[in-house]
Amino acid sequence: SSIIIALDGYSSCGKSTTAKLVAQQLHYAYIDTGAMYRAVTLYFIQNHIALTNPKEIDKALEDIHITFRLHPVTKSSDTFLNGMNVEHEIRKMYVSDRVSEVSAVAEVRHAMVAQQQRMGRSKGIVMDGRDIGTVVFPEAELKVFMTADPLMRAQRRQSELLAKGEMVDLPEIMANLEKRDYIDTHRDESPLRQADDAVLIDNTFMTVDEQVELVVGLADA
Ligand code: C5P
Repeated sequence: SSIIIALDGYSSCGKSTTAKLVAQQLHYAYIDTGAMYRAVTLYFIQNHIALTNPKEIDKALEDIHITFRLHPVTKSSDTFLNGMNVEHEIRKMYVSDRVSEVSAVAEVRHAMVAQQQRMGRSKGIVMDGRDIGTVVFPEAELKVFMTADPLMRAQRRQSELLAKGEMVDLPEIMANLEKRDYIDTHRDESPLRQADDAVLIDNTFMTVDEQVELVVGLADA
């Protein structure tokens, strides 16, 4: 029977890589909630939304429509913001630089969590993020909390960015991951933490295949 798999953890721990492949194997839907917060952040940057102005934030959230569509060629799930494919743009460093501040805004979280809960209603879903097992789906049948060595995470992120044509040096990436993890774990609204019933996976010395096998195994159990 189909279940909800919640995959949470720190930035760049390989959550989305693992979640995508687990979803493929189980024929589940995959939802990248980080992409949703990134799309909101892109909109806020483009429209100069002040994080200190609740009225402006509410208006912006009403105007933001995020959808996921399967890319016809790559078969990957692309993120659309108001009908525009923003998959490439939201992964850039200038968005990563601002995303945690935007994600700490209570109104932003309420809007995203509501949409995520609607998307998850048709079970058989793998959702990755920071608060899936604690806030979005506290009733999820399987919760995984992923972590990895900070240097390893930064190196993985660097090669991802490089593959997309963006060259960023390691100290800058490490500083960004550190900053995001700090804001994500210290914000007032649903801070990042491991759910009491989550399985902890440190994947520093694991291959992607091993991680996928482990999670699929836990889902079957
Ligand atoms: O997963 P990813 O690294 O793309 O997420 C980008 C940022 O979005 C995180 O650093 C965090 O600030 C925010 N986020 C969040 N809650 C989620 C998913 C992401 O606050 N469920």
